[in-house]
Amino acid sequence: MTDPHSPAHAAALDAADPLPTLRDQFLIPRHNDREQTYFVGNSLGLQPRGARAHVEEVLDKWAMEAVEGHFTGQAQWMPYHELVREPLARVVGAQPHEVVAMNSLTANLHLMMVSFYRPTRERPAILIEAGSFPSDRYAVASQIGFHGFDPDTDLIELQPDQPGGLISMQAIERAIAEHGPRLALVLWPGVQYRTGQAFDLAEIARLAHAQGALCGFDLAHGAGNLELALHDSGVDFAVWCHYKYLNSGPGAVAGCFVHERHARSDRPRFAGWWGHETSTRFRMGPQFVPTPGADGWQLSNPPILGLAPLRASLELFDRVGMRALREKSQRLTGYLETLIRERLSDTLDILTPAQPAERGCQLSLRVIGGRGLSGRAAGRDLFDYLAGEGVLGDWREPDVIRISPAPLYNTHADVLRFAQAVQAWRNP
Ligand SMILES: *Cc1c(COP(=O)(O)O)cnc(C)c1O
Repeated sequence: MTDPHSPAHAAALDAADPLPTLRDQFLIPRHNDREQTYFVGNSLGLQPRGARAHVEEVLDKWAMEAVEGHFTGQAQWMPYHELVREPLARVVGAQPHEVVAMNSLTANLHLMMVSFYRPTRERPAILIEAGSFPSDRYAVASQIGFHGFDPDTDLIELQPDQPGGLISMQAIERAIAEHGPRLALVLWPGVQYRTGQAFDLAEIARLAHAQGALCGFDLAHGAGNLELALHDSGVDFAVWCHYKYLNSGPGAVAGCFVHERHARSDRPRFAGWWGHETSTRFRMGPQFVPTPGADGWQLSNPPILGLAPLRASLELFDRVGMRALREKSQRLTGYLETLIRERLSDTLDILTPAQPAERGCQLSLRVIGGRGLSGRAAGRDLFDYLAGEGVLGDWREPDVIRISPAPLYNTHADVLRFAQAVQAWRNP
Protein backbone atom coordinates (compact mmCIF):
# COMPACT_ATOMS: atom_id res chain seq x y z
CA MET A 1 0.00 0.00 0.00
CA THR A 2 1.39 3.38 -0.94
CA ASP A 3 0.83 6.33 1.38
CA PRO A 4 -2.60 7.88 0.56
CA HIS A 5 -0.95 11.29 0.89
CA SER A 6 1.50 10.67 -1.96
CA PRO A 7 1.06 11.87 -5.55
CA ALA A 8 1.81 8.33 -6.71
CA HIS A 9 -1.18 7.05 -4.74
CA ALA A 10 -3.54 9.71 -6.11
CA ALA A 11 -2.30 9.03 -9.64
CA ALA A 12 -2.85 5.31 -9.17
CA LEU A 13 -6.40 5.91 -7.93
CA ASP A 14 -7.12 8.03 -10.98
CA ALA A 15 -5.61 5.49 -13.35
CA ALA A 16 -7.53 2.59 -11.79
CA ASP A 17 -10.86 4.40 -11.40
CA PRO A 18 -13.72 2.46 -13.05
CA LEU A 19 -15.03 5.75 -14.47
CA PRO A 20 -12.21 7.52 -16.31
CA THR A 21 -12.41 11.27 -15.91
CA LEU A 22 -14.14 13.42 -18.53
CA ARG A 23 -11.86 16.30 -17.53
CA ASP A 24 -10.64 16.74 -21.12
CA GLN A 25 -14.24 17.52 -22.12
CA PHE A 26 -14.13 20.70 -20.01
CA LEU A 27 -12.29 24.01 -20.17
CA ILE A 28 -10.27 24.24 -16.97
CA PRO A 29 -9.35 27.81 -15.93
CA ARG A 30 -5.62 28.41 -15.49
CA HIS A 31 -3.78 29.85 -12.55
CA ASN A 32 -0.27 31.11 -13.28
CA ASP A 33 1.07 28.39 -15.54
CA ARG A 34 -1.01 25.43 -14.47
CA GLU A 35 -4.63 24.32 -14.35
CA GLN A 36 -6.68 25.57 -11.43
CA THR A 37 -7.79 23.04 -8.86
CA TYR A 38 -11.45 23.91 -9.13
CA PHE A 39 -13.81 22.78 -6.37
CA VAL A 40 -16.57 25.29 -6.98
CA GLY A 41 -18.82 23.26 -9.26
CA ASN A 42 -21.47 23.75 -6.56
CA SER A 43 -21.50 27.42 -7.50
CA LEU A 44 -20.67 27.54 -11.21
CA GLY A 45 -19.82 24.34 -13.06
CA LEU A 46 -17.05 24.45 -15.65
CA GLN A 47 -17.73 24.97 -19.34
CA PRO A 48 -18.11 21.78 -21.39
CA ARG A 49 -16.04 22.01 -24.56
CA GLY A 50 -19.14 21.18 -26.55
CA ALA A 51 -21.05 24.24 -25.32
CA ARG A 52 -19.51 26.64 -27.81
CA ALA A 53 -20.56 24.58 -30.83
CA HIS A 54 -24.16 24.41 -29.64
CA VAL A 55 -24.25 28.17 -29.02
CA GLU A 56 -22.64 28.87 -32.40
CA GLU A 57 -25.16 26.60 -34.07
CA VAL A 58 -27.93 28.83 -32.75
CA LEU A 59 -26.13 32.03 -33.74
CA ASP A 60 -25.48 30.66 -37.25
CA LYS A 61 -29.05 29.52 -37.65
CA TRP A 62 -30.28 32.93 -36.56
CA ALA A 63 -27.89 34.62 -39.01
CA MET A 64 -28.82 32.43 -41.95
CA GLU A 65 -32.44 31.52 -41.39
CA ALA A 66 -33.80 34.16 -39.01
CA VAL A 67 -37.46 33.48 -38.24
CA GLU A 68 -37.41 30.29 -40.31
CA GLY A 69 -35.05 28.86 -37.70
CA HIS A 70 -38.10 28.05 -35.62
CA PHE A 71 -39.30 25.47 -38.13
CA THR A 72 -36.45 24.37 -40.40
CA GLY A 73 -33.36 22.19 -40.37
CA GLN A 74 -31.62 20.65 -37.41
CA ALA A 75 -32.28 21.72 -33.82
CA GLN A 76 -35.32 23.82 -34.74
CA TRP A 77 -36.22 26.35 -32.10
CA MET A 78 -39.92 25.58 -31.86
CA PRO A 79 -39.34 22.16 -30.26
CA TYR A 80 -35.82 23.04 -29.03
CA HIS A 81 -36.56 22.42 -25.34
CA GLU A 82 -37.60 18.90 -26.32
CA LEU A 83 -33.93 18.21 -27.08
CA VAL A 84 -33.07 18.35 -23.40
CA ARG A 85 -36.19 16.67 -22.01
CA GLU A 86 -35.16 13.01 -22.03
CA PRO A 87 -31.57 13.43 -20.86
CA LEU A 88 -32.76 15.78 -18.13
CA ALA A 89 -35.39 13.27 -17.02
CA ARG A 90 -32.60 10.66 -16.75
CA VAL A 91 -30.49 12.98 -14.57
CA VAL A 92 -33.28 13.55 -12.04
CA GLY A 93 -35.04 10.19 -12.26
CA ALA A 94 -38.28 11.42 -13.80
CA GLN A 95 -40.63 10.51 -16.64
CA PRO A 96 -39.87 12.71 -19.65
CA HIS A 97 -43.19 14.61 -19.50
CA GLU A 98 -42.57 15.40 -15.81
CA VAL A 99 -39.63 17.74 -16.55
CA VAL A 100 -39.16 20.99 -18.39
CA ALA A 101 -36.26 23.43 -18.71
CA MET A 102 -37.53 26.97 -18.25
CA ASN A 103 -37.01 30.29 -16.44
CA SER A 104 -34.78 30.44 -13.38
CA LEU A 105 -34.91 28.47 -10.15
CA THR A 106 -36.61 31.14 -8.04
CA ALA A 107 -39.12 31.97 -10.79
CA ASN A 108 -39.99 28.27 -11.07
CA LEU A 109 -40.34 28.02 -7.30
CA HIS A 110 -42.90 30.84 -7.39
CA LEU A 111 -44.79 29.25 -10.29
CA MET A 112 -44.89 25.93 -8.48
CA MET A 113 -46.13 27.54 -5.27
CA VAL A 114 -48.88 29.31 -7.17
CA SER A 115 -50.24 25.85 -7.98
CA PHE A 116 -49.07 23.76 -5.03
CA TYR A 117 -49.23 26.16 -2.10
CA ARG A 118 -52.94 26.78 -1.57
CA PRO A 119 -53.21 27.94 2.03
CA THR A 120 -56.44 27.95 4.00
CA ARG A 121 -57.18 29.38 7.43
CA GLU A 122 -56.77 25.91 8.97
CA ARG A 123 -53.78 24.96 6.87
CA PRO A 124 -51.65 27.99 6.02
CA ALA A 125 -48.09 26.92 6.92
CA ILE A 126 -44.93 26.07 5.00
CA LEU A 127 -42.13 24.05 6.60
CA ILE A 128 -38.55 24.69 5.48
CA GLU A 129 -35.14 24.17 7.06
CA ALA A 130 -33.71 27.01 9.17
CA GLY A 131 -30.81 28.69 7.38
CA SER A 132 -32.26 27.94 3.97
CA PHE A 133 -30.89 29.70 0.91
CA PRO A 134 -32.09 33.32 1.10
CA SER A 135 -33.92 33.26 -2.22
CA ASP A 136 -36.01 30.29 -1.10
CA ARG A 137 -36.88 31.99 2.17
CA TYR A 138 -37.81 35.22 0.40
CA ALA A 139 -39.95 33.31 -2.09
CA VAL A 140 -41.73 31.30 0.58
CA ALA A 141 -42.30 34.25 2.94
CA SER A 142 -43.58 36.42 0.10
CA GLN A 143 -46.01 33.71 -1.04
CA ILE A 144 -47.37 33.41 2.49
CA GLY A 145 -47.83 37.18 2.63
CA PHE A 146 -49.33 37.25 -0.87
CA HIS A 147 -52.13 34.99 0.33
CA GLY A 148 -52.79 37.27 3.30
CA PHE A 149 -51.09 35.08 5.90
CA ASP A 150 -48.24 35.98 8.21
CA PRO A 151 -44.73 34.58 7.71
CA ASP A 152 -44.02 35.17 11.42
CA THR A 153 -46.46 32.42 12.31
CA ASP A 154 -46.92 30.46 9.10
CA LEU A 155 -43.33 30.06 7.96
CA ILE A 156 -41.99 27.24 10.12
CA GLU A 157 -38.21 26.91 10.06
CA LEU A 158 -36.84 23.69 11.47
CA GLN A 159 -33.72 24.31 13.55
CA PRO A 160 -30.78 21.91 13.34
CA ASP A 161 -30.68 19.37 16.18
CA GLN A 162 -27.22 17.96 15.44
CA PRO A 163 -23.71 19.41 15.65
CA GLY A 164 -22.53 21.38 12.65
CA GLY A 165 -26.01 22.55 11.69
CA LEU A 166 -27.27 19.10 10.65
CA ILE A 167 -30.89 18.03 10.91
CA SER A 168 -31.77 14.46 11.85
CA MET A 169 -34.55 12.55 10.14
CA GLN A 170 -36.20 12.18 13.57
CA ALA A 171 -36.36 15.97 13.92
CA ILE A 172 -37.97 16.27 10.48
CA GLU A 173 -40.45 13.55 11.35
CA ARG A 174 -41.31 15.23 14.66
CA ALA A 175 -41.79 18.64 13.04
CA ILE A 176 -44.04 17.28 10.31
CA ALA A 177 -46.09 15.40 12.91
CA GLU A 178 -46.25 18.38 15.29
CA HIS A 179 -47.33 20.92 12.67
CA GLY A 180 -49.05 18.41 10.38
CA PRO A 181 -52.63 19.69 10.48
CA ARG A 182 -51.43 23.27 9.79
CA LEU A 183 -49.00 22.38 6.99
CA ALA A 184 -49.92 23.27 3.43
CA LEU A 185 -46.45 22.59 2.04
CA VAL A 186 -43.12 21.09 3.00
CA LEU A 187 -40.28 22.54 0.92
CA TRP A 188 -37.01 20.68 1.42
CA PRO A 189 -33.52 20.81 -0.13
CA GLY A 190 -31.96 17.77 -1.79
CA VAL A 191 -28.59 18.89 -0.42
CA GLN A 192 -28.43 21.73 2.10
CA TYR A 193 -26.14 24.35 0.59
CA ARG A 194 -24.25 25.32 3.77
CA THR A 195 -23.75 21.96 5.39
CA GLY A 196 -23.73 19.65 2.38
CA GLN A 197 -26.24 17.37 4.11
CA ALA A 198 -28.38 15.21 1.81
CA PHE A 199 -31.80 13.96 2.88
CA ASP A 200 -34.03 10.95 2.39
CA LEU A 201 -36.32 12.78 -0.01
CA ALA A 202 -38.82 9.98 -0.60
CA GLU A 203 -39.33 9.67 3.15
CA ILE A 204 -39.87 13.42 3.53
CA ALA A 205 -42.46 13.41 0.73
CA ARG A 206 -44.17 10.42 2.34
CA LEU A 207 -44.32 12.10 5.76
CA ALA A 208 -45.69 15.34 4.28
CA HIS A 209 -48.36 13.51 2.31
CA ALA A 210 -49.36 11.43 5.33
CA GLN A 211 -50.26 14.73 7.06
CA GLY A 212 -52.26 15.97 4.08
CA ALA A 213 -49.61 18.50 3.02
CA LEU A 214 -47.99 18.79 -0.39
CA CYS A 215 -44.23 18.54 -0.84
CA GLY A 216 -41.64 20.25 -3.06
CA PHE A 217 -37.88 19.91 -3.35
CA ASP A 218 -35.24 22.51 -4.08
CA LEU A 219 -32.56 20.57 -5.91
CA ALA A 220 -30.16 23.43 -6.63
CA HIS A 221 -27.40 21.37 -4.98
CA GLY A 222 -28.94 17.98 -5.67
CA ALA A 223 -29.43 17.86 -9.44
CA GLY A 224 -26.41 16.38 -11.21
CA ASN A 225 -24.96 15.52 -7.79
CA LEU A 226 -27.20 12.91 -6.16
CA GLU A 227 -28.77 9.95 -7.87
CA LEU A 228 -32.35 11.22 -7.71
CA ALA A 229 -35.57 9.29 -8.24
CA LEU A 230 -38.07 12.12 -8.42
CA HIS A 231 -40.91 10.16 -9.94
CA ASP A 232 -40.66 7.33 -7.43
CA SER A 233 -40.26 9.75 -4.52
CA GLY A 234 -43.83 10.85 -5.17
CA VAL A 235 -42.94 14.50 -4.54
CA ASP A 236 -45.39 16.98 -6.04
CA PHE A 237 -42.86 19.32 -7.62
CA ALA A 238 -39.16 20.12 -7.70
CA VAL A 239 -37.04 22.98 -9.01
CA TRP A 240 -33.32 23.33 -9.66
CA CYS A 241 -30.80 25.37 -11.58
CA HIS A 242 -28.44 24.25 -14.32
CA TYR A 243 -25.41 26.42 -13.66
CA LYS A 244 -24.13 24.47 -10.63
CA TYR A 245 -23.52 20.74 -11.09
CA LEU A 246 -25.15 20.81 -14.53
CA ASN A 247 -22.42 22.98 -16.03
CA SER A 248 -24.64 25.03 -18.32
CA GLY A 249 -23.22 28.48 -17.73
CA PRO A 250 -23.95 31.56 -15.64
CA GLY A 251 -27.67 32.14 -15.15
CA ALA A 252 -28.50 29.10 -17.29
CA VAL A 253 -32.15 28.19 -17.90
CA ALA A 254 -33.42 26.24 -14.87
CA GLY A 255 -35.29 22.97 -14.40
CA CYS A 256 -38.71 22.06 -13.08
CA PHE A 257 -40.46 18.79 -12.24
CA VAL A 258 -44.19 18.26 -11.82
CA HIS A 259 -45.27 14.78 -10.77
CA GLU A 260 -47.31 12.82 -13.28
CA ARG A 261 -50.33 12.80 -10.96
CA HIS A 262 -50.61 16.55 -11.57
CA ALA A 263 -50.08 16.30 -15.34
CA ARG A 264 -53.67 17.30 -16.06
CA SER A 265 -54.17 19.32 -12.91
CA ASP A 266 -56.84 21.98 -12.83
CA ARG A 267 -55.17 23.73 -9.91
CA PRO A 268 -54.70 27.47 -10.32
CA ARG A 269 -51.61 28.37 -12.28
CA PHE A 270 -50.05 31.47 -13.75
CA ALA A 271 -50.42 30.88 -17.46
CA GLY A 272 -48.52 31.93 -20.56
CA TRP A 273 -48.86 31.03 -24.21
CA TRP A 274 -46.02 28.50 -24.18
CA GLY A 275 -47.90 26.39 -21.65
CA HIS A 276 -50.89 26.16 -23.99
CA GLU A 277 -51.80 22.87 -25.58
CA THR A 278 -49.26 22.62 -28.39
CA SER A 279 -51.47 21.52 -31.28
CA THR A 280 -53.76 24.53 -30.88
CA ARG A 281 -51.31 27.10 -29.47
CA PHE A 282 -51.04 28.96 -32.74
CA ARG A 283 -54.75 29.37 -33.19
CA MET A 284 -54.09 32.17 -30.73
CA GLY A 285 -57.44 31.68 -29.04
CA PRO A 286 -58.48 33.65 -25.96
CA GLN A 287 -58.88 30.65 -23.61
CA PHE A 288 -55.85 29.02 -22.00
CA VAL A 289 -55.83 25.24 -22.31
CA PRO A 290 -52.77 23.80 -20.55
CA THR A 291 -50.69 21.21 -22.32
CA PRO A 292 -50.40 18.09 -20.13
CA GLY A 293 -47.32 17.62 -17.96
CA ALA A 294 -44.65 20.00 -16.76
CA ASP A 295 -44.71 21.81 -20.12
CA GLY A 296 -48.08 23.24 -19.15
CA TRP A 297 -46.37 25.56 -16.66
CA GLN A 298 -44.20 27.24 -19.30
CA LEU A 299 -44.84 30.93 -19.81
CA SER A 300 -42.73 32.07 -22.70
CA ASN A 301 -40.93 30.77 -25.70
CA PRO A 302 -37.59 29.71 -24.22
CA PRO A 303 -34.25 31.51 -24.60
CA ILE A 304 -32.66 29.21 -27.16
CA LEU A 305 -29.17 30.64 -26.60
CA GLY A 306 -29.59 29.91 -22.91
CA LEU A 307 -30.62 26.31 -23.52
CA ALA A 308 -27.80 25.53 -25.97
CA PRO A 309 -25.03 24.86 -23.38
CA LEU A 310 -27.34 22.56 -21.43
CA ARG A 311 -27.40 20.23 -24.43
CA ALA A 312 -23.61 19.94 -24.32
CA SER A 313 -23.66 19.23 -20.60
CA LEU A 314 -26.39 16.61 -20.80
CA GLU A 315 -24.48 14.77 -23.53
CA LEU A 316 -21.75 14.19 -20.96
CA PHE A 317 -24.18 13.07 -18.25
CA ASP A 318 -25.68 10.63 -20.73
CA ARG A 319 -22.27 9.28 -21.59
CA VAL A 320 -21.66 8.12 -18.03
CA GLY A 321 -25.07 7.96 -16.32
CA MET A 322 -25.91 9.22 -12.84
CA ARG A 323 -25.26 5.93 -11.09
CA ALA A 324 -21.64 5.62 -12.19
CA LEU A 325 -21.11 9.32 -11.66
CA ARG A 326 -22.45 9.18 -8.13
CA GLU A 327 -20.25 6.18 -7.34
CA LYS A 328 -17.21 8.09 -8.56
CA SER A 329 -18.33 11.10 -6.55
CA GLN A 330 -18.39 8.97 -3.42
CA ARG A 331 -14.85 7.74 -4.13
CA LEU A 332 -13.53 11.28 -4.62
CA THR A 333 -15.27 12.76 -1.59
CA GLY A 334 -14.34 9.69 0.47
CA TYR A 335 -10.69 10.25 -0.47
CA LEU A 336 -10.98 13.91 0.55
CA GLU A 337 -12.47 12.83 3.86
CA THR A 338 -9.68 10.30 4.46
CA LEU A 339 -6.93 12.83 3.76
CA ILE A 340 -8.52 15.34 6.14
CA ARG A 341 -9.14 12.82 8.93
CA GLU A 342 -5.64 11.38 8.76
CA ARG A 343 -3.55 14.54 8.58
CA LEU A 344 -5.65 17.69 8.87
CA SER A 345 -8.08 17.05 11.69
CA ASP A 346 -6.39 19.69 13.84
CA THR A 347 -7.07 22.27 11.11
CA LEU A 348 -10.36 21.28 9.49
CA ASP A 349 -13.53 20.08 11.13
CA ILE A 350 -15.86 18.28 8.69
CA LEU A 351 -19.43 19.53 9.22
CA THR A 352 -20.98 17.38 6.48
CA PRO A 353 -22.26 13.94 7.53
CA ALA A 354 -19.81 11.06 7.33
CA GLN A 355 -22.37 8.65 5.84
CA PRO A 356 -22.05 8.76 2.03
CA ALA A 357 -25.85 8.46 1.69
CA GLU A 358 -26.26 11.65 3.73
CA ARG A 359 -24.15 13.88 1.53
CA GLY A 360 -23.40 14.72 -2.08
CA CYS A 361 -19.95 15.58 -3.32
CA GLN A 362 -19.48 18.65 -1.12
CA LEU A 363 -17.71 18.73 2.22
CA SER A 364 -18.25 21.82 4.35
CA LEU A 365 -15.08 22.36 6.36
CA ARG A 366 -14.90 24.56 9.42
CA VAL A 367 -11.46 26.02 9.85
CA ILE A 368 -10.43 25.54 13.43
CA GLY A 369 -9.86 28.87 15.25
CA GLY A 370 -6.92 31.04 16.00
CA ARG A 371 -5.01 33.40 13.79
CA GLY A 372 -3.41 32.58 10.50
CA LEU A 373 -0.12 33.73 9.04
CA SER A 374 -1.36 37.22 8.38
CA GLY A 375 -2.78 37.59 11.89
CA ARG A 376 -6.32 37.43 10.48
CA ALA A 377 -8.91 34.82 11.41
CA ALA A 378 -7.54 31.47 10.34
CA GLY A 379 -10.43 30.56 8.05
CA ARG A 380 -10.20 33.52 5.74
CA ASP A 381 -6.42 33.34 5.83
CA LEU A 382 -6.43 29.71 4.69
CA PHE A 383 -9.05 30.40 2.04
CA ASP A 384 -6.98 33.23 0.57
CA TYR A 385 -3.81 31.14 0.73
CA LEU A 386 -5.51 28.33 -1.19
CA ALA A 387 -6.79 30.74 -3.84
CA GLY A 388 -3.24 32.07 -4.20
CA GLU A 389 -2.13 28.49 -4.86
CA GLY A 390 -4.83 28.04 -7.51
CA VAL A 391 -6.98 25.82 -5.27
CA LEU A 392 -10.48 27.21 -5.42
CA GLY A 393 -13.20 26.43 -2.89
CA ASP A 394 -15.85 28.79 -1.68
CA TRP A 395 -16.19 30.73 1.46
CA ARG A 396 -19.11 31.02 3.89
CA GLU A 397 -18.88 33.41 6.82
CA PRO A 398 -17.65 33.17 9.45
CA ASP A 399 -15.30 30.18 9.11
CA VAL A 400 -16.43 27.60 6.55
CA ILE A 401 -14.77 26.54 3.30
CA ARG A 402 -16.88 24.38 0.99
CA ILE A 403 -14.98 21.94 -1.23
CA SER A 404 -16.99 20.13 -3.89
CA PRO A 405 -15.11 17.58 -5.99
CA ALA A 406 -17.21 17.32 -9.16
CA PRO A 407 -16.86 13.79 -10.51
CA LEU A 408 -17.08 14.81 -14.16
CA TYR A 409 -13.87 16.83 -14.04
CA ASN A 410 -12.20 16.65 -10.62
CA THR A 411 -9.65 13.92 -9.92
CA HIS A 412 -7.98 12.27 -6.97
CA ALA A 413 -4.92 14.34 -7.87
CA ASP A 414 -7.01 17.50 -7.40
CA VAL A 415 -8.15 16.30 -4.00
CA LEU A 416 -4.57 15.56 -2.94
CA ARG A 417 -3.48 18.97 -4.13
CA PHE A 418 -6.03 20.57 -1.82
CA ALA A 419 -4.81 18.54 1.18
CA GLN A 420 -1.18 19.35 0.41
CA ALA A 421 -1.93 23.05 0.09
CA VAL A 422 -3.65 23.05 3.50
CA GLN A 423 -0.61 21.32 4.99
CA ALA A 424 1.74 23.83 3.41
CA TRP A 425 -0.31 26.66 4.92
CA ARG A 426 -0.27 25.06 8.33
CA ASN A 427 3.44 24.18 8.33
CA PRO A 428 5.06 26.96 6.31
C1 LIG B 1 -28.19 28.50 -6.07
C2 LIG B 1 -29.46 28.49 -5.35
C3 LIG B 1 -30.50 29.36 -5.70
C4 LIG B 1 -30.32 30.40 -6.77
O1 LIG B 1 -31.54 30.85 -7.29
P1 LIG B 1 -31.62 31.46 -8.76
O2 LIG B 1 -33.05 31.72 -8.93
O3 LIG B 1 -31.03 30.45 -9.69
O4 LIG B 1 -30.78 32.71 -8.78
C5 LIG B 1 -31.70 29.26 -5.00
N1 LIG B 1 -31.86 28.35 -4.02
C6 LIG B 1 -30.87 27.50 -3.66
C7 LIG B 1 -31.09 26.50 -2.57
C8 LIG B 1 -29.64 27.56 -4.31
O5 LIG B 1 -28.66 26.74 -3.92
